[in-house]
Amino acid sequence: MAHSGVSPSLSSMAAPQATGHGGGNSSNVLRKYYQTEYPKEIWWFFGALIALLTAARLVSTVIAFVRRWRFHSRSLSHSVSVSEKDTESGGARTAPFPIALRVPLALVNAWKIVWFRSTIHFGFGYSLNVAEVVLTCAYIVALFTWSFVHTQNLTMNWWANRTGALAAAQFPLVTALGTKNNVISWLTGIGHEKLNYLHRMTARVSLVLLWVHGGARLSIMSRSGNHEDWSEPWFRAGFVATVFLSALVLVSVRPVRERRYEFFVWFHFAVVLIFTVGGYFHVKRFAYTPYLWPCFLIWGLDRFLRLARLAFFSFSSFLSSYTSEAEVRKLSPHLLRVRVPRPRGFHWAPGQTAYLVFPGVSTLPCEAHPFTIGSADPSATTDLPSLPSPSSGGEEGDDLVFFIGVQTGFTKKLAARVDNANGVARVRALVDGPYGHGADLVRSGGYDNAVLVAGGTGLAWGVPVFVDAVRRAKEMEGKARLRRIVFVWAIRERSHITWIAPTLQSTLSLARTVPNLSVSVRVYVTAPSESWDDDSVHSGRSGHENEKEMDIEGVEILSGRPDLGETMREEMARGGREMFVGVCGSASLAGAVKEAARVNPLWGQGSVVRGAPSVELVVESFGYA
Ligand SMILES: Cc1cc2nc3c(=O)[nH]c(=O)nc-3n(C[C@H](O)[C@H](O)[C@H](O)COP(=O)(O)OP(=O)(O)OC[C@H]3O[C@@H](n4cnc5c(N)ncnc54)[C@H](O)[C@@H]3O)c2cc1C
Repeated sequence: MAHSGVSPSLSSMAAPQATGHGGGNSSNVLRKYYQTEYPKEIWWFFGALIALLTAARLVSTVIAFVRRWRFHSRSLSHSVSVSEKDTESGGARTAPFPIALRVPLALVNAWKIVWFRSTIHFGFGYSLNVAEVVLTCAYIVALFTWSFVHTQNLTMNWWANRTGALAAAQFPLVTALGTKNNVISWLTGIGHEKLNYLHRMTARVSLVLLWVHGGARLSIMSRSGNHEDWSEPWFRAGFVATVFLSALVLVSVRPVRERRYEFFVWFHFAVVLIFTVGGYFHVKRFAYTPYLWPCFLIWGLDRFLRLARLAFFSFSSFLSSYTSEAEVRKLSPHLLRVRVPRPRGFHWAPGQTAYLVFPGVSTLPCEAHPFTIGSADPSATTDLPSLPSPSSGGEEGDDLVFFIGVQTGFTKKLAARVDNANGVARVRALVDGPYGHGADLVRSGGYDNAVLVAGGTGLAWGVPVFVDAVRRAKEMEGKARLRRIVFVWAIRERSHITWIAPTLQSTLSLARTVPNLSVSVRVYVTAPSESWDDDSVHSGRSGHENEKEMDIEGVEILSGRPDLGETMREEMARGGREMFVGVCGSASLAGAVKEAARVNPLWGQGSVVRGAPSVELVVESFGYA
């Protein structure tokens, strides 16, 4: 037999000394020791990395807490005296950071610009930011170093099994990175959608390691002429698992995920099951099952939490005699607006996502699709009047509102339901969420001004963030640190403004009553060929039927693309210490905002060193790719 089992006692023993080269007894012991211990060492390495990120998160949470506490206690004790509303100068009058703080802050900004806002393009539409590239390289280097270090002259015997053990040890990590509820997200605060890239990357690198392992074992087998293992079930199980995982990696390329998502999801589910069961029986032979069974546990826990949340919110809707029927309306041939009654106990921060399940519409009753909650949580600002619902004129009240672009799968079926029901359909909907990080611009006490940029359906993120900021600023009656909000929305047709006209109207009239808050809403009607809007919302009509509805006091309607660089420069010139910039829309819009936010923090006009505000950039997109 080419393989031999690993004695459990090896795991606790000290590193044995090699007495010679080649295949002596002590070499065998040493080989097996490395094969057993190195996967554990790599886990210590990942553990240390996660602990470091957790510590960084704790520090930033404490800083945010102290900042919020200091801000609130200061605003309570020194009530800001406001004689007249300062809309002309646009608020942001916090003094710049003291000179001593500017250099470290400029370095933090420079780090963020290089690490997160600089993108490397690989062609075929693939691009990664520097953080993703560095993490990928570090992961590859770590895995392959542990695979080949301390091998005597790189002899195959030394690494053939070790690569297999190291690959097996990756799968709990791969699984955790792919689940919506996972401990890495909880500890580090990194949203599951941001971890999705790492899920694919770690799976792909681990597959390469499995190929190295399998190739080496086959080569050893053919050289020795001993083919006994072929007939062993554990060997076949490992072979089949690797073949299936290879097929999954091929199918997981972005064009397939984009064009055939449902097929991808089910293929992924089936293959992962085959891979994990096959892998389990393969590694069982070598006592490595502790690397495989946690995958089932991690996956099961995620499913359990998702199901439990769905059940809890359905039950709470039922108890509070709310209906779980959603109202679905067509805003344009390619955009739906869905209003789901808020289940009791469901709260969210602006910009968060929920998974919607429409059992009577989707192919499978458990199919869940993520959508950004396009309304602000009304229960967060209870003393203020409810917002009117976009376009219907009714009360938004307690509803969760979603803006859903019609694609080719489930969303198309939902649109067909609306067509069959003459424009407004009522369908049963279940909600799981909220997920992701919200954007709290006021309560954090962290920003002086904010620029929010949305393209087409990106309004689903921009509107709740904008509305929530105004409502919270109103609640604080002029004591909020946020003094200026610019909301830019790029659309293809002027008529699209009617989708959110009532919300804009009421938010702007509320903003006018907030002392010290200046708000600018700019709607850019881009040419139909511009890619800044989302294709899905182009109705193909150019008529301006409801001109009256489109004229909203305080909303500037402009033609062409916004000059985001100019907007950023203008807002930075207003001063203040910290500025929030958020974007949600097409890749080109996100790219333009990233470009505009790459202001040199170390020197020149607009640099943090010279007293310009430090920029916090948040880029939201409607996909995992
Ligand atoms: C965090 C997040 C927030 C989102 N918010 C919104 C929003 O507010 N409004 C909006 O219109 N769209 C949003 N989307 C995209 C939305 O989830 C998809 O457009 C929708 O699921 C398409 O369903 P379909 O069956 O019609 O898609 P298909 O026509 O089968 O595929 C169209 C596209 O949607 C993607 N997609 C399909 N199903 C899913 C799924 N279950 N999970 C993730 N992506 C999927 C596919 O990769 C493909 O690129 C969001 C996506 C994510 C990841």
